[in-house]
Amino acid sequence: MAAFVSDTAPESSSFSKTFYDSLLEVPEGEHLRTCLQCGTCSGVCPFGYLMEFPPGRMISYLRADIFDKVMDSESVWMCVSCYACTQVCPSKIPLTPGLMTRAKEELLLAGNIPKELQSALENSQRYGNPLGESPRKRANWAKGLDPEVAIMRKIDRPVDILWFVGDYPSYHPRVQLASRALVQILNVLDIDFGILGPEENSDADSQRLAGERGLFEMLAEKNGQALSKYQFNEIITTDPHAYNALRNEYPGLGISHPVRHYTQFLADRLDQLLPLLTQEVKAKVTFHDPCYLGRANGVYDEPRTLLEAIPGIKLVEMQHNRSTSLCCGGGGGGMWLDGFQWEKAHVRLSEWRVREAISVDADVLAVACPYESPRFEDAAKMVEGAGQLRVKDIAELLVDAMED
Ligand code: SF4
Ligand code: SF4
Repeated sequence: MAAFVSDTAPESSSFSKTFYDSLLEVPEGEHLRTCLQCGTCSGVCPFGYLMEFPPGRMISYLRADIFDKVMDSESVWMCVSCYACTQVCPSKIPLTPGLMTRAKEELLLAGNIPKELQSALENSQRYGNPLGESPRKRANWAKGLDPEVAIMRKIDRPVDILWFVGDYPSYHPRVQLASRALVQILNVLDIDFGILGPEENSDADSQRLAGERGLFEMLAEKNGQALSKYQFNEIITTDPHAYNALRNEYPGLGISHPVRHYTQFLADRLDQLLPLLTQEVKAKVTFHDPCYLGRANGVYDEPRTLLEAIPGIKLVEMQHNRSTSLCCGGGGGGMWLDGFQWEKAHVRLSEWRVREAISVDADVLAVACPYESPRFEDAAKMVEGAGQLRVKDIAELLVDAMED
């Protein structure tokens, strides 16, 4: 077996040893001992070429008991928590949820944090969302919809489905269009659903992955309290990050509810949905697998099932698809580090993805994560030849295929 830091580090209170011990507490963290130093993680990392300390190198510094040097570097903030390294590591080391996230926690504690990230975290703490919007306005996106979207504290009854809407679907003007499209679909399927509205807080999964575990727990607790007030059979989410939090992280805090991403929920109702998809959407469509739906949670088929059900759509795959999907750059705090990462890399991951979409002649880049429409639409403005590429949420494409 490969050597590990507690073999070599002195029994003193060395930072490397303390940090190493904390990694062992992460599920499957003990796999760290078996790192082969093969470099596969660095090779697959979208920013591995400019990270001073990609995961494998971090581990070698841990073994050498000089991990404090990693803490002096800013390059950990280039990690977008995309799970690509975790997916390929032959030793099955939980690199994204363990090593990278813990390293960010330590950087935060040491005050080594880019300003723009700090401001998103402060907003989350103060307002319950990283955009700094008023919690009272959380359900404003649904104003004017007929029938009215049920807000749980206003209706005095249980619902079948509690829709955890999420930050960007609630507040971002572009993403609100997809939220309204999903309302239309749920209504036409006659689903009895409600939302938390102002009682919903950020799921905080991206804040957790950006190293703010305390903030994550505080916001998760608030969401748990709100959810505990109401009766429902299941939660659906629009946001894969919320899905990941509710499915994998909240249960550890005693907040446990059945949860599905909306693409899973709708794919399960395909029999009901198919007769409603009567309009042709003539387009070559390619689907971007979100990291937190695909690699982190293994949901690859349901989004494709929905797209293939739309008449007129020809589904084509990009070179990187399913488990090898390229990250949009928004995860793990990347959504709030665009300026910092641009300064370091002079490239945006979202532009790489748009280039892949146009290389397969796609008319539409289909998405199923609220981070992606704004990111890819901005990227398409910068990429030569992407002027005609449309970015659409799967919910929007389904509505396009329904009669008015
Ligand atoms: S891929 Fe896994 S085993 Fe290989 S260097 Fe990276 S962490 Fe170590
Ligand atoms: S999670 Fe993604 S960005 Fe972070 S180190 Fe791994 S491959 Fe690189």
